[in-house]
Amino acid sequence: MPQINTILNRAEKSFQSWRHLSFKERGLFMKKAAVILKTNKDQYARLMAQEMGKPFTQGQSEIEKCVFVCDFYAEHAEFFLTPEPVRSEASNSYVTYEPLGVVLAVMPWNFPFWQVFRCAVPTLMAGNAVVLKHASNVCGCALAIEKIYKEAGFPPALFSNVFVSSSKVIDLIEHPFVRAVSLTGSTGAGKSIATHAGAVLKKTVLELGGSDPYIILEDADLESAVETCVNSRLINGGQSCISAKRFIAVTSIFKEFEERFTAKMQMQRMGPPLNEGVNLGPMARHNLRDQLHRQVDKSAKQGAKLLLGGAIPLGPGAYYPPTVLTRVRPAMTAYQEELFGPVAALIEAADEQEAIQTANDTVFGLGAAVFTRDIKKGERIAVQELQAGCCFVNEAVKSDPRLPFGGIKQSGYGRELAESGIREFINIKTVYIK
Ligand code: NAP
Repeated sequence: MPQINTILNRAEKSFQSWRHLSFKERGLFMKKAAVILKTNKDQYARLMAQEMGKPFTQGQSEIEKCVFVCDFYAEHAEFFLTPEPVRSEASNSYVTYEPLGVVLAVMPWNFPFWQVFRCAVPTLMAGNAVVLKHASNVCGCALAIEKIYKEAGFPPALFSNVFVSSSKVIDLIEHPFVRAVSLTGSTGAGKSIATHAGAVLKKTVLELGGSDPYIILEDADLESAVETCVNSRLINGGQSCISAKRFIAVTSIFKEFEERFTAKMQMQRMGPPLNEGVNLGPMARHNLRDQLHRQVDKSAKQGAKLLLGGAIPLGPGAYYPPTVLTRVRPAMTAYQEELFGPVAALIEAADEQEAIQTANDTVFGLGAAVFTRDIKKGERIAVQELQAGCCFVNEAVKSDPRLPFGGIKQSGYGRELAESGIREFINIKTVYIK
């Protein structure tokens, strides 16, 4: 508790001065953070490779995205949070967007920089302070991020780490200086945090797990669909909430999709993440790899057909090969659970209607995609049929600072990024002057 108290007292103190700065002043600090990120891009990419196995070039792209989000909110925060006049009987009435105070960010290891910046940048630009409880296996990344904010000249402890185990998160949530909580992580952690925050009436934003379905219709451009599906399944070693996880192809093209998809999965280069040309590193931890393998094994025993991979390689490192399970059906593990690694579940659907039903037949609702040459049809399916927070047509689901990001159902609630994201941790204040 003394460590927690000290950190939160310092964060609260910095918040009290930070909240009075103009957006322009805050933006200057954020732009400095962007420059530091850019300057040290390779160093951070190496750190991620060492701590959680991300291939070096993917780490570089992650840092570039962090630069983008810093610049984006430095330039747009004021526009998103400009007070809005409202006509009433008052001489003057309007809505203003005021910061809340210290926001607790509980973050995962899979995109150790991006997840933190995605949450922290809009939160800070809105005038809040952020205390980060990062995942225990990426402490080096947590320290590097804290240093970036320090070197960019942000007030001391306006952004700071707290190194505690997940069981101590409750103490943080209950602390009077913590005004709200943002979690990116598993659905289990989301339920626990929502329960505790609910008990003390603190707002939460929850970005949780997913089992994104990609529908491939008869008239899809198969070559491009296969390329996009494989890339989305394997990005970050398949350890992404918005990796494509279930591939639902209609009967008329199922066989061809299955063959092309499996061939492409087979072509990937697995190896040490710092080696050139490697696009699939080891998984982040042995226990996660072993859990994924158990899911594959179980699905095969339940009747799914293993077309590729599915065996733990000999030797050191938590490697798991690109794996394809086909003929996956309802009630099988690969159909129902999130596969957080390089394992694809292929599902055959009789027609478009069955494909949509299968896509929605999940407890999750984060992302979804549909592949078809008929753009109008794709748009209708994305808008009216798919039950997910982010629905894409002929493209892999991805996050972008300009577009809101988040899920429904057991994938969580609230939004990050864009205007919606910066409006999560603010007091929408009504001002009425007679
Ligand atoms: P995780 O085990 O839930 O951990 C995420 C963070 O929560 C870590 O800091 C962890 O701390 C902490 N934590 C775990 N259990 C907790 C609890 N009961 N109470 C409070 N804090 C707790 O998830 P992960 O394995 O790191 O990440 C993978 C999961 O995150 C996947 O399900 C993935 O889909 C999801 N994810 C979602 C998004 C999204 O935007 N929707 C993005 C990325 C990942 P420790 O490390 O100390 O345990």
